[in-house]
Amino acid sequence: MSTENSTQKPFTIAIVGGGIGGIALAIALRHQHVPVQVYEAAPEFAEIGAGMAFGPNAIRSMELIDPAIRKAFNTRATKNGAKEDEATWINFRCGLGEPDLIAKVQTTDHDKTGLSSVHRAHFIDELADLLPEEIAHFGKRLVGLATLDSGKMQLAFEDDTTAHADAVVGCDGVRSRVRQFLLDTKSPLEDLTFSGKYAYRGLISMGMAKEALGEYLSGNSQMYLGPEGHILTYPIAHGKVMNVIAFKNQDTPWEHESWVVKNQGDAFKRDFEGWGKPVQSILQLLDSPDQWALFDHQPARTYCQGRVAILGDAAHASTPHQGAGAGQAIEDALILGRLLGDVQTQGASDIPAAFRAYDAVRRPRSQKVVTTSRAAGLTYAFQGPDGGDVAGIQEELLQRFQWIWEEDMESQLAQATTMLRGERQV
Ligand code: FAD
Repeated sequence: MSTENSTQKPFTIAIVGGGIGGIALAIALRHQHVPVQVYEAAPEFAEIGAGMAFGPNAIRSMELIDPAIRKAFNTRATKNGAKEDEATWINFRCGLGEPDLIAKVQTTDHDKTGLSSVHRAHFIDELADLLPEEIAHFGKRLVGLATLDSGKMQLAFEDDTTAHADAVVGCDGVRSRVRQFLLDTKSPLEDLTFSGKYAYRGLISMGMAKEALGEYLSGNSQMYLGPEGHILTYPIAHGKVMNVIAFKNQDTPWEHESWVVKNQGDAFKRDFEGWGKPVQSILQLLDSPDQWALFDHQPARTYCQGRVAILGDAAHASTPHQGAGAGQAIEDALILGRLLGDVQTQGASDIPAAFRAYDAVRRPRSQKVVTTSRAAGLTYAFQGPDGGDVAGIQEELLQRFQWIWEEDMESQLAQATTMLRGERQV
């Protein structure tokens, strides 16, 4: 990475949390010559063994942050196996009876992005390799944040250590402590709501998936819709593995203390009893998967306060029904990284203005993703060809994703930097 000390900005940013959002922001800041330190609670940068898909908006943002991210992504990205499905994001199908096609949703970009998925753990490894070791601090769980008389921020960690920075960005996920400090809530859980759905997640070797489902259904992304649930499958790890997420409605509150309930035995089979053959075949291949409750955030009134900001799930945790949460974190990192790179004053006094421009540009769009993602979850719980409005659902699915994917990221950047320059002139 070409980060010349001579051009470094005279202030330091502390990032709390080294998930995809935090690492993307750290890479963005280094690319903009902004000194940065990352404080991560876990002993290393790590992600779970599951899939994740990115739309054209997210992939364009990677390129604009630093072509090295796009390159890292390309190294791990997996597309649909069938040539004719190159531009396909998901084939939506009936989950009951025959798996008839309801809608083939495709990206319309020049690159035919279609399904572009990664194995989360593999991708985070690639991203982490783009950061120098000395800026990453592990076992640092943030427990306190204070503004000192000097204006600098003091971060306090669970291990009784502290650190200092000119500003802090909370990338600490759905149960963000930084969000709690920023919005002054009693607990990180205060503005989280159970979305009325939980999910079983699993990985199946492609050899077994192919045997059970055939080459086409296993090697290309499918979403099976049915009453009270939907099941998503797509290839990851260069087609060696099939990723499965089986979503189920629950109209009562989530009562377990933990959001992940382990060893649910055959509960998942009972949840999808009576569904069609492909779904039954998929479930046969899952081995007692865990149940994950899906929560999302109430809209935050702001993403910044003084020298503190939030990004990614810390700002706008969403249900996964549009496959867009991590993509929004990457868009956030692009805009915030560029704005902080544009801060021109000798000290750090311009940072709050950069944070305000970030908030103004990013909050409406990322919160719309949260709202529309919930609505998508309702559409997916489809009553079947006899009880459901197939034509209406088809029409909705075909237009649902376009506004997310076709966002003009260059113009978002221009809007943000114009706003920052405007603030300077006031
Ligand atoms: P996280 O990944 O949660 O990272 C937060 C980091 O902060 C962690 O490393 C954590 O250890 C650390 N941390 C937490 N608290 C502290 C603390 N106090 N101090 C220090 N460190 C701390 N999005 C997509 O774009 N495409 C998809 O296909 C997709 N599929 C999904 C499927 C499911 C089932 C779910 C639940 C989500 C899906 N998402 C998807 C959403 C995506 O997973 C998230 O939006 C994304 O991972 C958020 O990244 P983040 O870096 O903001 O937060």
